[in-house]
Amino acid sequence: MTDSGSAAARVLARADELAEHSARTDGIERSYLTPQHTRVNAISAAWMREAGLRSWPDAAGNQCGRRTIDDDDKPALLLGSHLDTVPGAGRYDGILGVLVAIEVADRLRDVDLPFALEVVAFGDEEGTRFGATLLGSRALAGSWNDAWLDLQDTDGVTLREAATTFGLIPENIHTAARPRHSLVGYLECHIEQGPRLEALDRALGVVTTIAAAERRMLSFRGEARHCATPWELRHDALLGASEAIVAIERIARDQGSPATVGRIRVEPDAVNVIPGFAEWSLDLRDGTAAGRDATWGLIRHELHRIAVERGLDLEVTSTHVAPEAPCAPHLRDAVAAGIGSTGDADPVELVSIAGHDAMAMAELTEIGMLFVRCKGGISHHADESVREEDVAVAIDALEAAVRHLAAQHAAEQG
Ligand SMILES: [Zn+2]
Repeated sequence: MTDSGSAAARVLARADELAEHSARTDGIERSYLTPQHTRVNAISAAWMREAGLRSWPDAAGNQCGRRTIDDDDKPALLLGSHLDTVPGAGRYDGILGVLVAIEVADRLRDVDLPFALEVVAFGDEEGTRFGATLLGSRALAGSWNDAWLDLQDTDGVTLREAATTFGLIPENIHTAARPRHSLVGYLECHIEQGPRLEALDRALGVVTTIAAAERRMLSFRGEARHCATPWELRHDALLGASEAIVAIERIARDQGSPATVGRIRVEPDAVNVIPGFAEWSLDLRDGTAAGRDATWGLIRHELHRIAVERGLDLEVTSTHVAPEAPCAPHLRDAVAAGIGSTGDADPVELVSIAGHDAMAMAELTEIGMLFVRCKGGISHHADESVREEDVAVAIDALEAAVRHLAAQHAAEQG
């Protein structure tokens, strides 16, 4: 077996091992500040030490590692991703990026680099337990908000209580923030969570940007009436919402902006009453915030038209806004050079529709991302699958990307 082959086999075996640390037996579920989080941190700390890193948990429960040969004051290139999962998860989303980073650190353990090399395993990216996402990476990036300490999980446990049980000091979580000058950049390897690499028959891709997103709750208020009410007197909020949701699909497809309506609720929710109220969610994304907002403008125009036609009142509440997070040109170049070194001379460039820790990290430092093909583009599901040979080239490509950056830095420093 080649070195890359054995490293890839080890990554897959480790992903299998981490998958056993789950809050349930009928699938993988591992969320922030749980006993499973404690265990995977301890396991990944041991793997980091084997790879020549010293390892420590930060004030937010992220497990960090840094090469023992690196001086304390040297700014670091940070490699990483997350170890938490959604309920019913696969075994590679996030996890693969941490394990590949550890392999790369192992290969570079004695290599003289112009920057320090660190690995991070973020404790929360998915936001499964407390609703707010990217808690681990936002703490490290310096955008932690103490108001989140009052968020509750479905059992009524606050983040403050969970952090204390985990062994953290809730009031100190914000001290996980890294000073800007302590990093030279952040590189993340992640499964694609889409089918494009597979369709193009490529193992790896360069991420150009992480899409801008906005989530809204939309509602129509009409009149709840007996089902004997004639058509011309009805103001049916659910019929309005139905027409709106189909229009959202049509407009978003035309504009190339991924849009998802994943939740709908009606009142009074009775079989023989015309719905007087319907509320639904809209998650709208695009490669740029301007593109996202242009698509929203067209959707809003259509919603107003439907409201007037059906005699309904429209209400719109924005619940989450994220700008696009572009990858830095020199880190894109490094990732492309890394992929190039594996024999793919013209790497595919992709926009990441999914959000990642790199989005939070973009507020602190420059980011770059490497995508790895996953079977059928399936993710957030037990069927998530990667090929061993793809993992092997991902390790090679990330290592080569780090070496490329090192050469670039050395050249700049003269
Ligand atoms: Zn992920």
